[in-house]
Amino acid sequence: MSGFRALPSVDQFLLSDTGKALVDQHGRARVLAVARQRLDAAREAIRAGDDGAALAQALPRQVAETLALEARSRLCPVLNLTGTVLHTNLGRAILAQEAMQAAVNAMANPLALEFDLDGGGRGQRDDHLRGLLCELTGAEDATIVNNNAAAVLIALNTLGQGREAIVSRGELIEIGGAFRMPDIMARAGARLVEVGTTNRTHPRDYESAITPDTGVILKVHTSNYRIEGFTAEVQAPQLSAIARQAGVPLLNDLGSGSLVDLSAYGLRREPTVAEAVAEGADLVTFSGDKLLGGPQAGFIVGRRDLIAAINKNPLKRALRLDKIRISALEATLRLYLDPDRLIERLPTLRMLTRVKADIAAQAARLQPRVQALLEPLGYAASVADCESQIGSGALPVDTIPSAGLRLTGPGGDAPDRLSARLRALPMPVIGHIRDGALVLDLRCLGDDAQLIEALEALEAP
Ligand SMILES: *Cc1c(COP(=O)(O)O)cnc(C)c1O
Repeated sequence: MSGFRALPSVDQFLLSDTGKALVDQHGRARVLAVARQRLDAAREAIRAGDDGAALAQALPRQVAETLALEARSRLCPVLNLTGTVLHTNLGRAILAQEAMQAAVNAMANPLALEFDLDGGGRGQRDDHLRGLLCELTGAEDATIVNNNAAAVLIALNTLGQGREAIVSRGELIEIGGAFRMPDIMARAGARLVEVGTTNRTHPRDYESAITPDTGVILKVHTSNYRIEGFTAEVQAPQLSAIARQAGVPLLNDLGSGSLVDLSAYGLRREPTVAEAVAEGADLVTFSGDKLLGGPQAGFIVGRRDLIAAINKNPLKRALRLDKIRISALEATLRLYLDPDRLIERLPTLRMLTRVKADIAAQAARLQPRVQALLEPLGYAASVADCESQIGSGALPVDTIPSAGLRLTGPGGDAPDRLSARLRALPMPVIGHIRDGALVLDLRCLGDDAQLIEALEALEAP
């Protein structure tokens, strides 16, 4: 039994070959801190009767492993095989090549963000997107903020602070996280006036609620749930006529507003932003990272005088976008100017429109290889039908036929155990558990090699 003397000092460790290599890789400060921790733990173990020489021998490997673990970012890329294309918890839309390139340029260089290259004077950062947004939506003007929640907040605050905001009881939704319509209204300083009932709201409900104190009528696209059966909703064109008659602005929160008609691609129709504008809403709000397929952002398009009022609101400065996202948004919006090539260039639409036969063929190709990688762990892989979802609240009750791999193993907790192992991989693989199996929906898998390379890092138990 050897005791404390077997252990190196921290300085000795730092000067050892392993110590020097680790300092090169991780920097002196981290190696010092981790080596101290591990040496303290070793001394503790010796006090408890462990052998010093054995602990000293294990030390370099332990320090190296701890440092490697620490250095691994939790923001590493993952394979989204959940079947939900716009997965909020996995960061929603992935960007088009053009958008990524624009973002990289913006990160690496100064750019004319608020600088007028023609006149040499001051410019507006939103100007880079305004023209595109007006062209794509038919709106008079546009402004951009941090996300759609911020768009709703600043629009309500501008139009409704200290006044009444009318909304149907059927549209007082919660989006998830902490975004609940009544709470946002309260924070915006507007007094909520609920009209109608959960399932039915009529034109007269709105008409009789309008007073000289009404600041805004809000319409919310109930994107994340659907009421069916005995229902009545006042459609935007009619509501817009009521609002106009009363001289009150109508704000339509579309949520994941699409810029193109998705039914042209075989998906269910979602109202497009251009339609919402044409239907007479004074302002329309929507997200940048949902169906639009760009980075996180919130757009407000509509009447010029109302957009000007929003831009004067001091909240605008607090909610504005940085140059990186503005650049990526500009590149993303430009793709919409060429609808013929939109699908091949915009990953969100490309994934949403992948046909089942293509995904099933990929599943059939991958099945034997995945089976071979999982067999040593006691798991089997089979080809299975899947139902993908758009995600982020869009078309919640609709699913898109898809295909994938069903992974099964022995024991009731087999899917959970496998799921945990796949999450711990250097490239984590995220599936979902259904009917006693871990299911990998392959809709969002770019190429076969990505999954195989990720799974090759699995080690037998
Ligand atoms: C998603 C959504 C929001 C919030 O948008 P974010 O961009 O996530 O902030 C607001 N309203 C509706 C109707 C939505 O669907």
